[in-house]
Amino acid sequence: MVTSTEYVNSVLEKVKSYNRHEGEFLQAVEEVFESLVPVFDKYPEYIEENILERLVEPERIVSFRVPWLDDQGQVQVNRGYRVQFSSAIGPYKGGLRFHPSVNQSIVKFLGFEQIFKNSLTGQPIGGGKGGSNFDPKGKSDREVMRFCQSFMTELQKHIGPDLDVPAGDIGVGGREIGYLFGQYKRLNGYQNGVLTGKGLTYGGSLTRTEATGYGAVYFAKHMLDSKNEDFQGKKTIVSGSGNVAIYATEKLQELGATVIAVSDSSGYIHDENGIDLKTLKQIKEVERGRIESYIEKHPQASYIATGNGQSIWSLKADLAFPCATQNEIDYKDAQMLIDNGVIAVVEGANMPTTVKAVDLFLEAGVLFGPGKAANAGGVAVSALEMAQNSGRSAWTFEEVDQKLHEIMENIYQSSAQAAKEFGQEGNLVVGANIAGFLKVAEAMYAQGLV
Ligand code: GLU
Repeated sequence: MVTSTEYVNSVLEKVKSYNRHEGEFLQAVEEVFESLVPVFDKYPEYIEENILERLVEPERIVSFRVPWLDDQGQVQVNRGYRVQFSSAIGPYKGGLRFHPSVNQSIVKFLGFEQIFKNSLTGQPIGGGKGGSNFDPKGKSDREVMRFCQSFMTELQKHIGPDLDVPAGDIGVGGREIGYLFGQYKRLNGYQNGVLTGKGLTYGGSLTRTEATGYGAVYFAKHMLDSKNEDFQGKKTIVSGSGNVAIYATEKLQELGATVIAVSDSSGYIHDENGIDLKTLKQIKEVERGRIESYIEKHPQASYIATGNGQSIWSLKADLAFPCATQNEIDYKDAQMLIDNGVIAVVEGANMPTTVKAVDLFLEAGVLFGPGKAANAGGVAVSALEMAQNSGRSAWTFEEVDQKLHEIMENIYQSSAQAAKEFGQEGNLVVGANIAGFLKVAEAMYAQGLV
């Protein structure tokens, strides 16, 4: 019989050799694998059943051509993906990302993380992810609509309310979900359970828009509680300015924190008095503009363009919420945050912190909330949206918010408990990986060789 370490290493070597060019995917796999060695000591039957090697191979990947006409009548072509990673505990569930950086490595890393995240929510949802290298930035509504219609014309063959339920992610919000839903309906009839993040007039759930950001702050609240800390007066950096960043900021402000900075891919706004949320929402949600225009209304704030060594993480803050994208905090950024006295880092985005930076935070005793736990509120409320759709009901904002809060507390507790049980008390990275994995592994074990 091989030891747990030998088993994990041998699977990792295979994953590396089969997916040589998929850096982000390998990063996500490696981070999970590191946590799992003690699990196999306790459950050697999972080695016998080769659970890990099965888990890292997606059940299915579809990749497809998305042709569409731009406003000049020119033919454009993008590439679409759906990775159906694991249906061990429920239908595939996870967002669609529209961003020029999307490729197979990106959707696989996101789909892999989604398996554990969805498991942690306690809801019966498997892991999937999809998207396209289409860039919605600068496109007209009509162009976005034509792209979404073409994308869904192919995707609809592979999804369904009990099979695979996509939602939003970067570049996919209410507008895109509306167009995607319209096209799905045209081809298959009205089945509102096929997508989540829908508009409130056609089967969406209250609180879904706010859920990822609010959820991350609820998670952080329990992290801070464990050290007898709270948000009152805490200077906070929130990177990004999309849906997650906006609603993290809203909840942070409500709980007494001062959000001193937000960003987009061009630069960041620094406002020591606190970011004005109304202006931020106007720029991002109404005008679909760039945050640089914030300073027109708030001349006391400064706009710093990034790209020439300037980083939002160089600001002095107590809390950091990376809510933009993968690998946005590297070792150097982590060092700056630590030198400036950060006490907690909470991932609103998926894998925003590099492995080396995570290790540095943990070594320095910084409270660290990993994305698959801290940002699970979005998909958790997606599962609540599915439940409402199945039950043909609509719950109130307060009801859903209350459930979201309970789910985030449960995720915190089960992650903290798993970390303790497996000898790494306080390490929520290890705890979330183990707690998420155990349920999936048990379901795979029960279902035989599939
Ligand atoms: N894209 C979100 C995530 O990363 C939400 C997925 C969903 O609601 O299905 O978890």
